[in-house]
Amino acid sequence: MRLQSFGAACTVTGSMHLLTLDGGRRVLIDCGLFQGGGDMEARNHQTYPFDPADLDAVILTHAHLDHVGRLPLLVNRGYRGPVYCTPPTAALAETVLLDSARLQVEGYRQALRRARRQGREDDVLPPLYDEEDVHRALALLRPVLEFGQTATVAGLRVTPGRAGHILGSAYLLLECNDGRLIMSGDLGNRESGLQLDFTPPPPADAVVIETTYANRSHRAWPETLAEFRDALRQSVRANGKILIPSFAIERSQTILHTLKQLMDSGEVPRIPVFLDSPMAARATHAYFEFGDELIPEVRDALRAGGDPFAPSTLHVVLTGDESQRINRYDGPAIILAGNGMMTGGRIQHHLRHHLWKPGTSLIIVSYQSPLSLGGQIVAGADTVQIMGEDIAVRAQVHTIGGFSAHADQDDLLAFLETAGNPHVWLVHGEVPVMDAFLPELSARGLKGDIVPDRQEVDLLGGGFSGGRPPGLALDAAPTGVKVEAGE
Ligand SMILES: [Zn+2]
Repeated sequence: MRLQSFGAACTVTGSMHLLTLDGGRRVLIDCGLFQGGGDMEARNHQTYPFDPADLDAVILTHAHLDHVGRLPLLVNRGYRGPVYCTPPTAALAETVLLDSARLQVEGYRQALRRARRQGREDDVLPPLYDEEDVHRALALLRPVLEFGQTATVAGLRVTPGRAGHILGSAYLLLECNDGRLIMSGDLGNRESGLQLDFTPPPPADAVVIETTYANRSHRAWPETLAEFRDALRQSVRANGKILIPSFAIERSQTILHTLKQLMDSGEVPRIPVFLDSPMAARATHAYFEFGDELIPEVRDALRAGGDPFAPSTLHVVLTGDESQRINRYDGPAIILAGNGMMTGGRIQHHLRHHLWKPGTSLIIVSYQSPLSLGGQIVAGADTVQIMGEDIAVRAQVHTIGGFSAHADQDDLLAFLETAGNPHVWLVHGEVPVMDAFLPELSARGLKGDIVPDRQEVDLLGGGFSGGRPPGLALDAAPTGVKVEAGE
């Protein structure tokens, strides 16, 4: 049972893991896009040291872009086999990949226009894929994986378990003559969100586990809720616009549901709520379709014919013209728009219109990478560049961390508790974070190892001395960007 990772090894983005099993069968687990700009995104253009046509199957753990976003490219490069996933993952993957293709093509056109003016059009890389490629990839989806039910994929027994991260997210128990392996995918935060908690995994010989937040504890959900409510109340008193940058999948639905609860209970006044994200509106359909997957209060509201994602004052904004018109609306209102790190999307024009006004509030509910526009604002910048203009930051900025959809250290250790005595392999984390997690594993008598980038490892073999692959720099700095829900 050998593993070679072409993404999410010593970083948090671009998940793509090649498993080679007895008899030489090859199964790819996830096929995600690298996000975070510059060098990271350049990795999307790299070729693979294997022929995609030789793969026996692809399995997707969930629909975040950093887990599915290179699938159309894999198909472009010759893969024609089946792509297995849960039904909700297939529904969300369509929304995510079509949006990604649109951004790819728009980004390419923009870069080309700029490069032409500088006489450098030959330097511009073509888009990774377009809408047609996405449709070819979607045609390969086999949404037949159901939680707790064993399917046979390329001769391998595959049992998905509920991962509790986003709608449809699964971890995978993979069984063959070599042994029993668990691939965690991304695991959920048991405190927050719309998803049921992950189900305890069965014993396994090896676990490949994500470690995004393996060195920290999230704030308790009641505290997060109180923090969010207080930020909203204070913002309503300031009488300006309340901007909430939010990713389209999971975070937008969680925020809408929370706003509805706070308004229905009278804890927050019923001011207009604009959902300015056609992608979030589309993704919400999947939450209706697969409502039985969600926490009881949301599931029951859906069964009763209600809309748990619609505060009574909700306006869903679809066109760009309507989006511009929100800026002419007088008085306090909540505007939810993407993207979550403010690096693009409709949130940018709302920020340009309102960030310089002292009455505005910016409520941040997602992780902000230090280099992103959101990261600059969180770090206290006086002015920021938005759409080519310098804009003063005079708005009240509230940062609320507890909405994370990722497991924290306690969640990860709880997940491992029922897995027996497996060899634990760490992926989807920054090196300093994984370094901090290794002693926690040793303290529980578990052998832990960091999965190296692109280098094949024997999952049931001896691993590395101290858990670190030889040659991994001791001071390896964070490299990637965690993009939580547009990812
Ligand atoms: Zn994810």
